[in-house]
Amino acid sequence: MKKTDRELGMLRQISRRDFVHGVSLGALGLMLPLGCSSGPGDSAAPTSSTGYPPTRTGIRGSHAGSFETAHALAREGVRFDNPVDLDEEYDLIVVGAGISGLTAAYEYRKKFGSGSRILILDNHDDFGGHAKRNEFHQGGDMRLSWGGTMNLEYLSFTDTVLNFLAELGIDVHQLSNELDFHYGGDGPAIWFDADTFGSDVLVPGFSMYSRNLDVLDRIDQFPISEPSKAALKQFYASDANVVDGLSEDEIEDLLRRTSYTDFLSQFAGLPDEVVELFIKSTDGYWGVQPHSLSTAEGMNAWLPGSHLLGGAADRAAGLEESEEVAMFPDGNASIARLLVQSLIPRVAPSANAENVASARFDYDQLDRAENLARLRLDSTAVHVANDAGGVTVTYVKDGVNARVSGRHCVLACYHAIIPHLCPELPSRQKEAARYQVKHPMLVTNVLLRSGEAFEKLGITGAYCPGRMHAKIWLIKGVNTAGYQGGTDLQGPVPVMFWGMIEPPQRDVPIHEQLRQSRQVMLGLTFEDYEREVRTVLDGMLGPVGFSAANDILAITVNRWPHGYAYGYLDLWDPEWEAGQAPHEIARQPFGNIVIANSDAAASAYTQSAIEEAIRAIGELS
Ligand SMILES: Cc1cc2nc3c(=O)[nH]c(=O)nc-3n(C[C@H](O)[C@H](O)[C@H](O)COP(=O)(O)OP(=O)(O)OC[C@H]3O[C@@H](n4cnc5c(N)ncnc54)[C@H](O)[C@@H]3O)c2cc1C
Repeated sequence: MKKTDRELGMLRQISRRDFVHGVSLGALGLMLPLGCSSGPGDSAAPTSSTGYPPTRTGIRGSHAGSFETAHALAREGVRFDNPVDLDEEYDLIVVGAGISGLTAAYEYRKKFGSGSRILILDNHDDFGGHAKRNEFHQGGDMRLSWGGTMNLEYLSFTDTVLNFLAELGIDVHQLSNELDFHYGGDGPAIWFDADTFGSDVLVPGFSMYSRNLDVLDRIDQFPISEPSKAALKQFYASDANVVDGLSEDEIEDLLRRTSYTDFLSQFAGLPDEVVELFIKSTDGYWGVQPHSLSTAEGMNAWLPGSHLLGGAADRAAGLEESEEVAMFPDGNASIARLLVQSLIPRVAPSANAENVASARFDYDQLDRAENLARLRLDSTAVHVANDAGGVTVTYVKDGVNARVSGRHCVLACYHAIIPHLCPELPSRQKEAARYQVKHPMLVTNVLLRSGEAFEKLGITGAYCPGRMHAKIWLIKGVNTAGYQGGTDLQGPVPVMFWGMIEPPQRDVPIHEQLRQSRQVMLGLTFEDYEREVRTVLDGMLGPVGFSAANDILAITVNRWPHGYAYGYLDLWDPEWEAGQAPHEIARQPFGNIVIANSDAAASAYTQSAIEEAIRAIGELS
């Protein structure tokens, strides 16, 4: 029977909403239970008069207060006239304090001298953009998780990126060697929920992604029809070659022009009920569902089916061979922290790549007049223009329009906002920037009192084909950069819920799907997300004694209506001629203004954010 909000613990006092907002951090210290140790380095929740954003819970990512000004500008055409001219003059003004903007500031100093005066603006209350640290202090020692970008897929890094990271002291091989985290791969499960499938059924030991013939009999437990079970078993077990007789070109064409779901129905012969089980399988990885991905793209996200291609998949689809990654315990927020520390050392005087995950950061130091580099949070740029001496940038902070001037400007923000910031850009460039519609993404971290329920079930994660967050994982084993997240599952442990919001309509162009998904995401309240994660944890773990009402200590919802950069998709985008792709047109320098961000590469990767910043700074003279 469906549980009431009360039974799910919706009314419990957990760390949620903006619980820590406005609370003095002295008070936060008092919230820490006795015995909350500092761990290596200085890991106790820091104190600062402006607050410490990583410990904030509730809705993070695109949090209240971060997007309203930009939406007023872009959606309602609000003008921010008559700014107050601040008596501040910079060499460089950066819009956007994500990895790209911070890298741009770092590279600027290398190119133009360490005495350069730099201002970095960001609309959020924390720096890092998608590199978002979620830090929990409820119920025990500090526990870290990431609210956005996490993997360093270092095998594909160029020397430029590897050298850049090495300058920050980051050894990706060491990070990778120290990692003992497998995204649930070391204890997989599939969980069918009662709302979608009629009853709650957990099937441990089964992954939709792996073709593990030893566990096919577990399909018998799935709450689907008998013919569907038989078809799914047959799919995994089959050694047929469904592209037999086709040339390499024809196979390539098939893999690029057929959606993954059509491949499953038309070539693998799966009934709709089974195809639907895969619908959410690419939610986190792609931010797009497999009906809108080509077969090659689906298989590149480790979806099954390549065994039916007679060995052609590796040649024609260019399947990725390795998923080897390096990781920090707070994801790539550690890179953002190292960059900020390099630009403004007094923020964390003793932080380095060996201890950055546990180092204390003093946010009061970010925007001091005496700093050569200043980082100004909660500040949304609304107008950027060339002028005779350089650039002027108008931004809104605390309801006040302020204008600063500088010699150069890097726009390291989302490209979709650039036409509104810079109306003087050539029309073709503005049109190209508008092509960038980012993928909405969702990363919800839930701090559990313990991970014992997972242990009892013998799982470390699960795929949830019926739910908003398609995947969940225990966050355990990322004990790098000075952080120890505990060695057993007896104490508090974060569980990450990963996914996207399904667009209400499937059969509309991809950009429209992404916009629809964004609208739904922004319309949901914290309580909607809270009810969702409580329902899932109750249904999945309740049978082994987990209490959704008692065993949830904190919930942090990182919603990213502007998530992954839009990378061109086989089914939706033409093959652009060299130099004519939208991102190549959009990133052209404009006077003293240059353009970075991962959007500038049309590629949702940290390495792209870094490379585009380095390119942009290279364009300045
Ligand atoms: C949930 C999620 C998971 C990801 N996982 C990975 C991963 O595992 N590995 C990987 O390599 N990549 C991952 N990515 C991709 C990620 O986008 C990049 O790795 C990288 O962090 C992007 O950095 P950026 O600086 O280009 O953009 P962003 O991080 O988006 O930074 C841009 C900043 O500019 C700000 N801004 C925008 N407009 C304005 C304005 N008008 N005024 C002031 N500020 C403004 C934005 O709010 C933002 O803070 C992930 C992304 C998401 C959303």
